Amino acid sequence: MDYKSEYLHPQFEALSREELEKLQIERLQATVRHCMNSPFYKQRFEECGLKPEDIKSLDDIRKIPFTTKQDLRDTYPFGMASVPLTKCVRLHSSSGTTGNPTVILHTQKDLDEWANAVARCLWMVGLRPDDVFQNSSGYGMFTGGLGFQYGAERLGALTVPAAAGNSLRQIKFIKDFGTTAIHAVPSYVTRLYEVMREQGVDPRRDTKLKVLAIGAEPHSEEQRKRIEDMLGVKAYNSFGMSEMCGPGVGFECKEQNGLHFWEDYYIVEIVDPETLEPVPDGEIGELVLTTLNREAMPLLRYRTRDLTRVLGRTCPCGRNHIRLDRMKGRSDDMIVLRGVNIFPIQIEKILMQFEELANNYLITLTTDEDNDNMTVEVELDKFDDDYGRLQKLEKEIRRRLKDEILLTPFVRLVPKGSLPVSEGKAVRVVDKRTVYQ
Ligand code: ADP
Ligand code: ZN
Repeated sequence: MDYKSEYLHPQFEALSREELEKLQIERLQATVRHCMNSPFYKQRFEECGLKPEDIKSLDDIRKIPFTTKQDLRDTYPFGMASVPLTKCVRLHSSSGTTGNPTVILHTQKDLDEWANAVARCLWMVGLRPDDVFQNSSGYGMFTGGLGFQYGAERLGALTVPAAAGNSLRQIKFIKDFGTTAIHAVPSYVTRLYEVMREQGVDPRRDTKLKVLAIGAEPHSEEQRKRIEDMLGVKAYNSFGMSEMCGPGVGFECKEQNGLHFWEDYYIVEIVDPETLEPVPDGEIGELVLTTLNREAMPLLRYRTRDLTRVLGRTCPCGRNHIRLDRMKGRSDDMIVLRGVNIFPIQIEKILMQFEELANNYLITLTTDEDNDNMTVEVELDKFDDDYGRLQKLEKEIRRRLKDEILLTPFVRLVPKGSLPVSEGKAVRVVDKRTVYQ
């Protein structure tokens, strides 16, 4: 099966803005009508007096109330469904560490469309049926597993469902099967590279790797560059979330100038998280997404809490799907320390500019004698026992961090391998502050 198969619709990739918007309004109207089958949306629409025929233009989307993660929790498990459960063939669920988990339901058509979207992303960055695609992310409920699995199969690549962890086995697969492309979370890619180095494997000489899809967690441009240099590959940013199926929502093209969000699948809005009014292109706000082709569980104006901005609506690659900046983080990832707002990604950006430093770091917040402090622990790339040199380096890191975040954190340089590594998304912040409220 190749990209021109009956399942895929390459013609949607090259639509003009005008054609895209025409398609969007048709699909939005159909989605709103379909949402009347969901007990949740039916009630919502009744409460605000909204009728499907009120949606006449794309701007009318603003008449629709937002949907939040809390709504998904409140309707757990199946209260959002727009089709009978007998039509659903799979569900994905988030962990639910902070309350009810959330559930996302899929019909077979939803799964097919999702696979198409992921296949489109991979095709865009050069993958073809003769590629060997190793998926080194978690499987199971984590959508990066099955999402990329079916997408790469749809494209026709030979897939290696390696799953996360067990780096020695991963490296053996890469070498034995001639893996050309990998999907993994960026923090795991750097770990994989460390193990390659320990094993004397040179990715450029000993592997056929050329393309990486990295995503599922915020990472800086500096981190991406490091990954590209380490492995001698092109690494493309992949954005997804379970509520929107999973991966395949936004992906960089070969220009690497932002993530194309597929506007035949989603309506993208960027709003001010306080006022909920749209912000102008170029300004940072909260990403709000409306699904346009979902059957089991369409979501209208879903507040993702991810912060980003519009970079453009055209691209030298020929695709006119909106381009968004890499995510700055989620609004709930923001650290507020002594009244200053800081995103972990700002710290990463600085650390990654020091070649003496390895890739793993941890930010710890503490309260010491009524003062809130930040300590940044970061691993050294090479063992060094020259105290003077280390002190100088530490001081320079503090200075650069202060320029970026406007606060001076404590910096601790630690030996490589001493900070925790997670197989899934990296945990970058530990908050041990005492809360006086
Ligand atoms: P969970 O909500 O439990 O983390 P998901 O896998 O659905 O589970 O996570 C989706 C979230 O992951 C997004 O809302 C976003 O915050 C983050 N994310 C996904 N891809 C990226 C990416 N490429 N860059 C930054 N953040 C990302
Ligand atoms: Zn492009």
